[in-house]
Amino acid sequence: RGTPAKRRGEILWAISDLVLAHADELARIEVLDNGMPIAMARGLLDGVVEGFRYFAGACTRLHGRTADMGEDLEYHAFAVSEPVGVAGLVVPWNGPLASLGNKLAPALAAGCSVVVKPAEQTSLSTLRLAELVLEAGVPPGVVNVVTGTGPAAGAALVHHDDVDKISFTGSLEVGRGIVAASAGNLKRVTLELGGKSPVFVFDDADLDAAVPVVGAGIFANSGQVCFAGSRVYAQPGIVDDLVAGLVEHAKGLRVGNGLDAGTQIGPLISERQRARVLDYVASGLAEGGEVVTGGVASGGVGYFVEPTIFTGTRADMRIVREEIFGPVLTVMPFGGLDELPGIGNAGPYGLGAGLFTRDLGVAHRAVRLLDAGNVWVNCYGRRDRSLPFGGFKQSGWGRENGPEGLDAYLEKKSVYLHL
Ligand code: ADP
Repeated sequence: RGTPAKRRGEILWAISDLVLAHADELARIEVLDNGMPIAMARGLLDGVVEGFRYFAGACTRLHGRTADMGEDLEYHAFAVSEPVGVAGLVVPWNGPLASLGNKLAPALAAGCSVVVKPAEQTSLSTLRLAELVLEAGVPPGVVNVVTGTGPAAGAALVHHDDVDKISFTGSLEVGRGIVAASAGNLKRVTLELGGKSPVFVFDDADLDAAVPVVGAGIFANSGQVCFAGSRVYAQPGIVDDLVAGLVEHAKGLRVGNGLDAGTQIGPLISERQRARVLDYVASGLAEGGEVVTGGVASGGVGYFVEPTIFTGTRADMRIVREEIFGPVLTVMPFGGLDELPGIGNAGPYGLGAGLFTRDLGVAHRAVRLLDAGNVWVNCYGRRDRSLPFGGFKQSGWGRENGPEGLDAYLEKKSVYLHL
C-alpha cells in the first residue's frame, strides 16, 4: 500500500509484458496441469495480459470526491479509497491463470497484498506467474502463494483473522462454506460461483451462425466453464434443425491431447470429475432422456467424455436443473417470450444467458426478462475487461472486472475537516 499509484501502474504493466513474453511457456504449463487445448490456453493468456493493462491504468485513477457541506466553507469533506488490506485469492482449476488475473490485477492496483491459493489440481502456472510478478518489481511479500487442498490450505486462509478479504471462484457448495468461514472477522467476501445458463433460440434465428456458437458455449473446455450454456431451448419451428446441426457440430469436434495443435476438446480435469459427469449422463437416461450423440467416455489415456447432447428432457430432471461442469447439453422446446422468466430464471443460479434472434424488439424484451449477470445476444461468452462480470442470485456476490472489480479491493473513508 506504500507504493505510489504511478509506480504500481508501471509494475502492473511490467507484469503484462512478462506474461506476454512468456505466454507460450505459461500456456504449456496450463495444458500440462489442466488438459485444455493449447490454443485456448494461449488465448486466455491474451486476456490475462489485457487485464493487467486495464488495471495498470486504473492505479492512477483511484479518485476520491468532495462534498459541499453548506455555508461559509466551514468544512472540507471528502471521501478516499484505500486498499482493503490482505486479500486471499482462492482460484479454481478450470481456467487457473485467467481466474487469477481477474483477481490479482485489481488487488495490486488497489494496493493490497495477497495470498493466492491455487486449486490443488493446477498449481504450477500460478507458481510460474508468481516468479514473473517478482521479476516485474512487485516487492517481496506482496504476492504470496500457498499451495494445498481446499479443506486444508483454502480453509486456513478463509478462516484467518489477518486476512481482510476473500475473493473466491468455484462451486456454490464451497462458496457457501466460505461465507460461513468468513464470519469470524467478517472479512469482505466476493464470490464467483456456478451457473446453469439457459440459451434461447428463436424461430427467426440465423441457424448456421447459431449452431457453432451454441456448441462452443457448452463444449469449450469440455463444459468446465462457470457460464457454460448448458440448457438450450428452441422454438418449435427450429428445434429439429438445431438439434441436427448441434449433433453434427459435436461429432465434428476433435477430442484429444491438449498439447496437439488440432485438439478442440481436451479431457476433464480428473477421474472424479469424469465419474461425476458420467453419473449425470446415467441419471439423464434413467429419468427418461435420450442421448442423441456422445454420452460415453472416449477411449485412450485421459479422462475424456464425448460431447453429449440430450433431447426428451424435462424441467424436473437433474441434468436440466444441476450444474454438471462437463460436456453435456440438453435441448428442449419452448413457446416464446412469455415463457422466458419461468424457464430462464428457474433454479438458484443467474450467471449467464444466451439469445438467438434477428428481431431487435424480441432481443431487448428478452434481455430484461432474464435474471442473469451476463446476457449474450447472437453470441456467447464474449467478455470485455471494462464491464462487470458476475452473477445474480446464488451465482455469486459482487463483480469482477471494470470499476466494480477494483472496488472489491477498496475500502471507502469519508473525511470531515472542520476548518
Ligand atoms: P470445483 O468444484 O470446481 O473443484 P471448488 O469450489 O471445489 O471447485 O474449488 C475451487 C477452489 O476452492 C480450489 O482452489 C479449492 O482448493 C478451494 N476450496 C475447496 N474447498 C475449500 C474450502 N473448504 N475452503 C477454502 N477453499 C476451498
